[in-house]
Amino acid sequence: MADESAARTNLLGLTPVELEAFCVGLGEKPFRARQLLTWIYKRRVGDFDEMTDLGKELRARLAAVAEIRPPEIVSEHVSADGTRKWLLRAGRSDNRDQAIEAVFIPEPGRGTLCISSQVGCALDCAFCSTGAQGFNRNLSAAEIVGQVWLANQRLGAGAGGERAVTNVVLMGMGEPLANYKAVLPALRIFLDDRCFDLSRRRVTLSTSGLVPQIYRLAEDINVALAVSLHAPNDALRDRLVPINRRHPIKELLEACWHYLDAQNGRSITFEYVLLEGVNDQPEHARELVKLLRGREAKVNLIPFNPFPGSDFVRSGRDSIAWFRDHLNASGVTATVRRTRGDDIDAACGQLAGRVHDRTTVRLGSKMVSVGVEA
Ligand code: SAH
Ligand code: SF4
Repeated sequence: MADESAARTNLLGLTPVELEAFCVGLGEKPFRARQLLTWIYKRRVGDFDEMTDLGKELRARLAAVAEIRPPEIVSEHVSADGTRKWLLRAGRSDNRDQAIEAVFIPEPGRGTLCISSQVGCALDCAFCSTGAQGFNRNLSAAEIVGQVWLANQRLGAGAGGERAVTNVVLMGMGEPLANYKAVLPALRIFLDDRCFDLSRRRVTLSTSGLVPQIYRLAEDINVALAVSLHAPNDALRDRLVPINRRHPIKELLEACWHYLDAQNGRSITFEYVLLEGVNDQPEHARELVKLLRGREAKVNLIPFNPFPGSDFVRSGRDSIAWFRDHLNASGVTATVRRTRGDDIDAACGQLAGRVHDRTTVRLGSKMVSVGVEA
């Protein structure tokens, strides 16, 4: 089975342009791509047999060389507040099952899906349990897109084309800009009106600050950018977000302002996990104001989500409120991220607490949780 499907092209990973080329490669007219896209994204059909306007012979040929295959669900959890979490199989490596997560957060008028871009992460931020797992592998474009496709299907998004997932955030496992090759086509598929047709403000890429890739992204695509800042000076950020040693704050902010200019963006969201006694003191708030005041920037303060073995403590309610109020009073817009789905461990933060194994998430064992923006 696995070998058979490995030889097939998963159409979920192809942009409309690539799908056209694929159809032409099969000796078909390019307009077949348009028909396929309508079936896949508008009617949410994953079985070629149901694609009645394609002709029997073409359907059989497609079934032999292609597939529409989202990641396989290992488990699905629904929280009392409606948050839903899927643990998804991401293949095997070193004889171990690998898993990633996608989390859906319903809110009045919108539904946000938080998706993963890698299995594990190499960047090793001090407060992140994905980082503590180490890096396993990049997801393919089909695996990234498949998370959204699957969520829409599972949520019973109407056959009439109404969407369950209205917003996508790349804030699950992994550093999206370290998997540029797969993330860029996935972003194109999220935005394309023949596919998910999401507006650029409804697709958010969160990065820990890979500066060269931010410049590249500015050339390639227009999505909302969230940047994991977490510290207002290099000495502290070097410790919390080690990639800062290579791309310090000044360089990172220059790349951010460049991205806004190039993409006519409104603002960048800066994520800031509040760690008690580490980066939540009045002097940190004041330094942060100096960095961001007068800029097109918003700060999203994230209560730290602890996990076993982590060295940090979540800042107290009062410090969080003080930090937020100080920023706002000083002209830097700040909000505190609400945690959701606590009862199913879908709360803010990365794969917190339940990862037994430092290199891979064990399937079927306890659950993990990912960072989501409420
Ligand atoms: N790698 C990307 C995107 C995934 S992490 C990035 O770092 O931006 C998504 C967000 O969750 C980041 O802002 C990250 O810093 C934050 N995060 C990681 N671990 C966390 C934890 N234990 N508690 C709260 N937020 C956490
Ligand atoms: Fe990787 Fe983001 Fe976690 Fe840092 S915070 S280790 S970049 S997933």
